[in-house]
Amino acid sequence: QIIFVPRETDIAEARVAASADTVKRLAGHGFDIIVESGAGTRSRIPDAEFEKAGAKIGAAADAAKADIILKVRRPSAAEIKSYKSGVSVFAIMDPYGNEAELAAIARGGITSFGMELMPRITRAQVMDVLSSQANLAGYRAVIDAAAEYDRAFPMMMTAAGTVPAAKIFIMGAGVAGLQAIATARRLGAVVTATDVRPAAKEQVASLGAKFIAVEDEEFKAAETAGGYAKEMSAEYQAKQAALVAEHIAKQDIVITTALIPGRPAPKLVSAAMVASMRAGSVLVDLAVERGGNVEGVVAEQVATTENGVKIVGHVNVAGRIAASASQLYAKNLLAFLETMIDKEAKSFAINREDELVKATMLTDGGAVVHERFASAAA
Ligand code: NAD
Repeated sequence: QIIFVPRETDIAEARVAASADTVKRLAGHGFDIIVESGAGTRSRIPDAEFEKAGAKIGAAADAAKADIILKVRRPSAAEIKSYKSGVSVFAIMDPYGNEAELAAIARGGITSFGMELMPRITRAQVMDVLSSQANLAGYRAVIDAAAEYDRAFPMMMTAAGTVPAAKIFIMGAGVAGLQAIATARRLGAVVTATDVRPAAKEQVASLGAKFIAVEDEEFKAAETAGGYAKEMSAEYQAKQAALVAEHIAKQDIVITTALIPGRPAPKLVSAAMVASMRAGSVLVDLAVERGGNVEGVVAEQVATTENGVKIVGHVNVAGRIAASASQLYAKNLLAFLETMIDKEAKSFAINREDELVKATMLTDGGAVVHERFASAAA
């Protein structure tokens, strides 16, 4: 069977869905692997390294031969046309709100898996792309903030005077937010953080940051069984906004990471709050792709407000640290694929009864099969 790894067609995407390591492992399982020339360039993996690991270097047209395609992004309309019917595609499919694209993928006879739908259970931790990528995005958000901030992060006591430590506020203490807290602390900033999930309080404290939140009855019940945030009531959001408004005015840097699965990102920082910050302050909005947490954020831009505050709206922040992101993403994919490989027979077969398959399979046999998206596509 043939596995194809394309160069991502979206120019904003610097990641690649395989590494030399994963190619070697897959070659060991008996697959023929074709990597499109240049696929790894922006992740610092030259063609020669893939070749050395056991891949053939090919062209985009080789997609037509593939039984399995490993991708970062959902295939485009043009890519779908080049695939053979019955191919299995693994990617970050971004299915929410893209039902028409899903339907087209189904019509192409493609069996597709949305890696971001992987359940967060112990067995699947090694396949958890949301965590592997969010962790790097949280790190990178702090680096981006530091690059835009014209002052130092740590307190520095020098013969020429004292530079105060930067005050950083992290909104949303999930995987990205916790890594942002840890990174900001390592750089010597004074860090505070907030979240609507009560479980986050202890995690924030354990990283040495101060937790700031409205801790009422609704807050105490604000976590779903899956460990995700719920959309909060208007009353709660108003109370939260009042607390946040007072706090933000005193911050140098704010990093927002708040998301609710399948919903637009909650609006947490208003234009008035941004205006309350000092000139030279920086906001980094990691939720910009889902509408943003910060009023006035513009995707793919560093906007400067009238009062001299920068709002950073980089998209695909994990992709801004592509070599590390690709290495981890490729490993996530390999781990999932290996659950479908019969190592004796050296063959690939999908067990449609497996809970990981059920959770991630979006299209199969010409139809959208995922329960969350099937009705919307029909
Ligand atoms: P996410 O990316 O969906 O959201 C980021 C954070 O924003 C979350 O912590 C969320 O609570 C928070 N948020 C949402 N609305 C908010 C608001 N109005 N104000 C402030 N914060 C708000 O989250 P994630 O990083 O994917 O993590 C979600 C959960 O999954 C966490 O409980 C995490 O510990 C858990 N998790 C479990 C596993 C596992 O068991 N394998 C792996 C990773 C994460």
